[in-house]
Formats: sequence, C-alpha cells, structure tokens
Amino acid sequence: MVQIQKIMMLGEQLCLDFINAVGWHPNESMCVEYLTSYSVFIQWCQKTEIINTEQASFFLEESRKRSVEADEVIKRVIELRKSVFRILLAVIAKDTPNEQDIDLLNSEIARVLPFSKLQYTDNQFIWKRAKETKNLDWMLSIIVNDIIELLTSNKLERLKVCDDDNCGWIFLDMSKNKSRRWCSMQDCGNRAKARRHYYNKKISKNEETE
Ligand SMILES: [Zn+2]
Repeated sequence: MVQIQKIMMLGEQLCLDFINAVGWHPNESMCVEYLTSYSVFIQWCQKTEIINTEQASFFLEESRKRSVEADEVIKRVIELRKSVFRILLAVIAKDTPNEQDIDLLNSEIARVLPFSKLQYTDNQFIWKRAKETKNLDWMLSIIVNDIIELLTSNKLERLKVCDDDNCGWIFLDMSKNKSRRWCSMQDCGNRAKARRHYYNKKISKNEETE
C-alpha cells in the first residue's frame, strides 16, 4: 500500500491541516499532492485521529471492494480542498469568495449532513455523528463540520497564509501579538532567514568593494 508522504499539523485547526495536505500549494508546476488516493486519505484521517485503527481497516477493506466509489470520494475530497483553499485565500485577502466555491461546499454539507443527528440528552442538545456507517465518505462529515465551525467563527481574523509565496499553507495565528508569519520556523521561516543572511552578506560584500 502507498504510504502517505507527509502530514502537516501546523494549521491550529483540523480543517486547516486538511487544506494543507498538499505541498507548494499556489504553484501549479511545483505542487505536490499528499492525498494521492483514497487509501492514503484514510491514512491521513487515522493519523489526524478523525478515525481510529478499527475504522481505518474497515474503510480500507471496503474501498478495495468498492473501488469506483472510493475513487469518487477522493475526487470529491480534492475538489472540496481546492474550493475551501480559494475561499480561505479570499477571506485572508478580504475579498468576496467565489460563489461556485461556496456552492461546492454547500453541496458537500448537504451530502454529509445525514451522518449527524441532533440529540437531546441530559437537558441539552448535542450534534452527534452516527458511529456506524458503511459510507466511504463518512469521515468527510467531520472535516466539513470543522470547516463550517471555522468559517462562522471569529477565528477568521487570525487566519493567515505563510509568507513564502510558493508555500500556501494556511494557519491560525494564535500568537499573542499576531506576529506569526511562517507555516513553521523549521521550514519556510528558516529558508527566509537563510535568504536574508545571503543577501545581507552580498550587500556588505558589495559595500566593501565600493
Ligand atoms: Zn510556509
């Protein structure tokens, strides 16, 4: 089985880690897809603890029997991620999101809504996901719910995209003074530091020769 290459958990929210399951997102020629198949998506869901080991084995086995259905689910997963990525970029740029992207998200909401139900227990309402399901897209309900939660929250004002033009990873800047610029200091932050160092050296060298 193909193993998932990379899991980035730096978005500070599950749905952002889902959106970031792709490398060099804004740059089409460099773009690296992490969710290359349904089975890889299931590995991602298991590692991010959306589903447990038992559920993962169930979905993997079912997907082998229902491969056409599984292929359709992974296509929907990628389309959903693309649409939500564009919506979030629009939010960050304070632009109006594309209506088609909102329509696609709404159609996914309609599809996965039946996987949850409203329950009244201990004097309160709870929005509960059905545990037992044979639907190969069941885990999408968790991701979609988390997207709705983010989009309707005031956390949006903390939403940022990494300062590296080619990175495209999106995160919530939870720092006190809202100063986070990079997806991670180990990654883009370090590269920017190295670049700054290189240019500074170059400038001071030029100054010396002048
Ligand atoms: Zn980055």
